[in-house]
Amino acid sequence: MGAHDVLIIGAGAYGLACAWKLAAAGQSVLVLERDGIGTQASGFALGRIDPLLGGIGAKYKVGSSVDASQSGAEAGNQLGLRGHRLLLDSIPEIESISGLDLQLDQQPTLQFIYSDVQLDELKEQSAGWVELGYEPKFLDVDEVRKLEPRASSPERGGLLIDGPFFIDALRYVQALAACSEKVGVTIQSGEVTGIDVHANSVEVETSSGARYSANRVLITAGPWSSQIANLMAVELPIHPSKGEILRLGPLESGPLEVHLHDPSSLVQKKDGQIWSAATAADVGFDRTPTPESRDILLANARQVLPEIENSTLILHTVCFRPVSQDGIPIIGQIDGSGSVWIATGGGGSGIMQSLAVAESVAKSITTGLSELSLEAFSPARF
Ligand SMILES: Cc1cc2nc3c(=O)[nH]c(=O)nc-3n(C[C@H](O)[C@H](O)[C@H](O)COP(=O)(O)OP(=O)(O)OC[C@H]3O[C@@H](n4cnc5c(N)ncnc54)[C@H](O)[C@@H]3O)c2cc1C
Repeated sequence: MGAHDVLIIGAGAYGLACAWKLAAAGQSVLVLERDGIGTQASGFALGRIDPLLGGIGAKYKVGSSVDASQSGAEAGNQLGLRGHRLLLDSIPEIESISGLDLQLDQQPTLQFIYSDVQLDELKEQSAGWVELGYEPKFLDVDEVRKLEPRASSPERGGLLIDGPFFIDALRYVQALAACSEKVGVTIQSGEVTGIDVHANSVEVETSSGARYSANRVLITAGPWSSQIANLMAVELPIHPSKGEILRLGPLESGPLEVHLHDPSSLVQKKDGQIWSAATAADVGFDRTPTPESRDILLANARQVLPEIENSTLILHTVCFRPVSQDGIPIIGQIDGSGSVWIATGGGGSGIMQSLAVAESVAKSITTGLSELSLEAFSPARF
C-alpha cells in the first residue's frame, strides 16, 4: 500500500480542483508541483467562464453543428456547461474558505456580427441557449451604439449574452489550494521525473531524488502531461498551444462595462485593467512574447474599440493551453491496473471545466460512478 491514497502531479486548476474534491471524499492526497501554484496557464488565463461562444483554443461551441469526426464534442459541451454552473454556485464557498475575493464579474458579452452568414449561424447556434438558462438578444447597429457608444459599429449588429462571467484565474487557483489544504491535502514542491507501477502501489520520483508512494497517481500536468505519460512508455497526444494576452490601462472616457467579443476578447477586469485576449500558436514551449502577437492583439482591440489606441500597455503575458489532438479533454486511466489516471486537455476552457472534471474524477476514483460519463474523454480513444 502507498503512503497516500492519491498523488497528484501538477498544481494547476485541474490538479487542485481534483485534490480538493478527492480529499473532501475522504482520500489522503499529496500534490507535487514543479514551478509553483498558478505559475502556468491556470494563473495567467483570462478567466472567462463562457460555455456558449467558446474562445480562441475552444474547438466546440454549444448549439453549433458538430462534424462526425468530433464525436466527443457534445460531451465537451456538457463538461463546459456543468463546469460553468458548478463554479458559479461554488464561488461563495471557495471565497469563504480561502478568504480570497475571486473578482466575480457578470458583465454581459457583446458578440460582434460582421456578415449575414455569421448572423444566420449565430441564430441557429443560439436557438437552444434560452432553455439552458442564458439570455441571448440580437441587437441592430443602432442598439449596439446605444449600449456602448465608444464601440465601433459591426456591420450586422451584435448578440448580447447574459450568463457567462469572469473571475481572476490566479486567485482562483490560489483559493483552490487553500480549499484543498483545509481538507488535509499536502502541496509540495517537486518535479516528477519517474513513475514505477508496482502490484499494490505506485512510486514517483522527483528531480531531487525524493521518492513518494501512493495507491493511485493522477497526472494533471497540463501540456507537460504527455512527457509524464512517456515516463511510463504511454503516448498521449497533448501539445502546448501558446497564448499571448495584453493587459492595458483604463480608458480616459470611463469604464468599459460590456465584454466586446471578436476577433479577440476585450474586457475590463475588476482591477481596472483592460485585457485583450488571446493568440493561439503551435510553436512548442516558446515563452517569448512577440511583437507580432502584440500588434495583432492591439489591432483586434482597436477594431472593436478605437479609443483603446490611447491606453498604456501594462503587461504582455505568455502561457500554454494543454490541447489534445481532437480538442476534447483526456480523462481516465492510462495503465492496465487502473492505478495511474490522467486529467488534462482543457484547451482554452480549463478554468471553466475544472470543478466538473474534479467532481467526475473524484466520484469515479472513489465510487466507480460519476455525474457525467467520462467515456468520451477516455485516453483509450487514441
Ligand atoms: C492565453 C490563455 C487564455 C485562457 N483563457 C481561459 C479562459 O478565459 N477561461 C478558461 O476556462 N480557460 C482559459 N484558458 C485555458 C486554461 O488556462 C487551461 O486550460 C488550464 O489552466 C489548464 O489547467 P491545468 O491544470 O490542466 O494545467 P496548468 O495550468 O498548465 O498546470 C499544470 C501544472 O503542472 C505542473 N507540472 C508540469 N510538469 C510537472 C512535473 N514534471 N512535475 C510536477 N509538476 C509539473 C506545472 O508547473 C503546472 O503548474 C486560457 C489559456 C491560455 C493559454
